[in-house]
Amino acid sequence: MPDYALLEKAAYTIINSRYTIALTGAGISVESGIPPFRGEHGIWNRYDPLTLEIDFFYQNPTESWQVIREIFYQFFGNAKPNKAHLALAKLEEAGILQAIITQNIDNLHQEAGNREVYEFHGNSKKLVCTRCGMVYHAGELALDVLPVTCLDCHSLVKPDFVFFGEGIPKDAYFRSMEATERCDLMLVIGTTAEVMPAGQLPGMAKSNGSTIIEINPEPTYLSQTISDIFLQGKAGEVLSVLTDRVLQKMD
Ligand code: NAD
Ligand code: ZN
Repeated sequence: MPDYALLEKAAYTIINSRYTIALTGAGISVESGIPPFRGEHGIWNRYDPLTLEIDFFYQNPTESWQVIREIFYQFFGNAKPNKAHLALAKLEEAGILQAIITQNIDNLHQEAGNREVYEFHGNSKKLVCTRCGMVYHAGELALDVLPVTCLDCHSLVKPDFVFFGEGIPKDAYFRSMEATERCDLMLVIGTTAEVMPAGQLPGMAKSNGSTIIEINPEPTYLSQTISDIFLQGKAGEVLSVLTDRVLQKMD
């Protein structure tokens, strides 16, 4: 846990900011039991990233769906928001946090209660027919026969998250850009910021004059370059203490 003085500095920076946003990555969901992609316990130690490439998906839908089903629907389908997600929901509720840009596809920010969430990489809880565009909620379609197909036109169904080789959803992209240009404080939480283009957002915010507060148990390239305050620790622990401090000071 970061020391008292650094947490105080971060709390005052949050209170004195005009427009605060958060950029979150896989690390914020680790305490919900969802592993990140990279690192020692990362998903890529167990699965081949090729299965999440868009061309591979269309050419080998059954094989791709087998891995998708295991990772996203069986393995972390029942995860619940943790203390970090709940802290961000409190900050939005208190009018202190204006928006979250998330690279996560697990829907946990919305489940925690945040309303202004820009899903840079889509959402695994939604499934879309690749032919007629019909949208399904996960749970509406049986996953026992693969690949998953549309109830209406029987074509291939794809999870509504961004595969490797796909573009960023336009709406989420433009809202994220707008928020990044507008913010004077960005909280960067649980991300290596190495996946592009999301990883460029902290740099863009910084060049527009924004302060960067980073929360991560491990230093990243941001910690050594553009982060103004680096709070080293787990997102759930750091954010719950920090949020309590901020809310106390506002009373
Ligand atoms: P990443 O896998 O590259 O890095 C995860 C980061 O989280 C690391 O910096 C690590 O130090 C940090 N971390 C680990 N435990 C933490 C904790 N308790 N609290 C805070 N931070 C912690 O993740 P990324 O940069 O977000 O990029 C990977 C891509 O994978 C993203 O684009 C995302 O779409 C996808 N992804 C999503 C999920 C999810 O939806 N939960 C899970 C895995 C991967
Ligand atoms: Zn269809």
